[in-house]
Amino acid sequence: MHQRAVRERMPTREFGSTGAQVSIIGFGASPLGGVFGEVDEEEGAEAVREAANMGINLFDTSPFYGLGESERVLGKGLARLDRPREEVMVCTKVGRYGQSEFDFSRERVERSVEESMARLGVSYLDVVHLHDVEFVSIERAVTHALPALQRYQQEGKIRFIGCSGLPLTALRRVISTAGPGAIAACLSYCRSTLFDSSFDSQLIPHLESSSIAPINASPLAMGLLTRQGPPPWHPAPDQLKLACRDAADKCDHLGADIADIALRASISRTRACTTLVGMASREEVRANIATAQEAALKRLVEPELTAFRVADSALEPVRGMTWPSGLPENNDRDFLTPEQLRQLDCH
Ligand code: NAD
Repeated sequence: MHQRAVRERMPTREFGSTGAQVSIIGFGASPLGGVFGEVDEEEGAEAVREAANMGINLFDTSPFYGLGESERVLGKGLARLDRPREEVMVCTKVGRYGQSEFDFSRERVERSVEESMARLGVSYLDVVHLHDVEFVSIERAVTHALPALQRYQQEGKIRFIGCSGLPLTALRRVISTAGPGAIAACLSYCRSTLFDSSFDSQLIPHLESSSIAPINASPLAMGLLTRQGPPPWHPAPDQLKLACRDAADKCDHLGADIADIALRASISRTRACTTLVGMASREEVRANIATAQEAALKRLVEPELTAFRVADSALEPVRGMTWPSGLPENNDRDFLTPEQLRQLDCH
């Protein structure tokens, strides 16, 4: 990772039809919960402050990330902001509380919102997403959780309701079950990367026609597209892990960093309003903001252009590859290999 001076203003895009403007790069706070390895809490809080000072105005977390740790450390950083709270969007989630713990009941959702506000040290939340809805019956989750979130919305404690998950099918189903105007934002992860552009081609057009804000998360594919590689829990198939390792090594030989190439490519291609990158240090914040600003200006010139082409060709055999997530009926069956479908149907 190298340091570059930040010269330009942070570009922003419209957050759906809400009237809000968000920075093209958002702060993904899952690393603050130790999801990718140990973090220095003080450095994490300073990273939040630095990000806000440099123009990032959207912060994303969940009670699931480190079982509350991510929200707590993010809250510590938000308390140090040099700008008013109203100038940043604080986004969290409800419904997922562990690897296999899901609860979208009205009571749990209400308690969750209160707990999140307390940990984050805020009196209102800008966005609350239904978290990883593909793991449960979508109809039941929406029927129970939505009225609870809407009550908070009426009280002014939640501005917008969103949904998040891996299979695009599940996200589409939440939106149609919730009905017109209920869902304001939709977060998809690992689907707008160097090896997959299905969020952009398959879901964003639908979101745009429904005035829903598309949020593009995990442009580094949760660590697959980094020099250090993915964490041990990463659910990608081995073939994808190996291809990403190969692409990272080839970039290295050219003196390029795959993380920089991956973020640049994702931001310059996507029509999502913001791209969430997981960060836990000021060094990552500075590097990623510089990359995002250059990407917004579409400056894919040498030497990055050569590295991009080399990585792109190393990833050709795994183009569009994803993995199963959640209940079989909520998956994008068209995107899975016959072996993945067999595994999914066996569980
Ligand atoms: P990511 O693709 O953003 O990768 C994060 C990893 O890359 C971390 O280990 C981070 O330290 C590292 N990294 C960041 N910048 C780097 C750089 N310049 N060089 C090298 N390494 C770098 O994955 P993510 O954090 O999972 O996704 C971003 C955010 O999106 C999350 O933090 C979370 O807020 C959100 N998200 C939501 C869901 C969901 O709702 N289901 C799922 C995934 C992600």
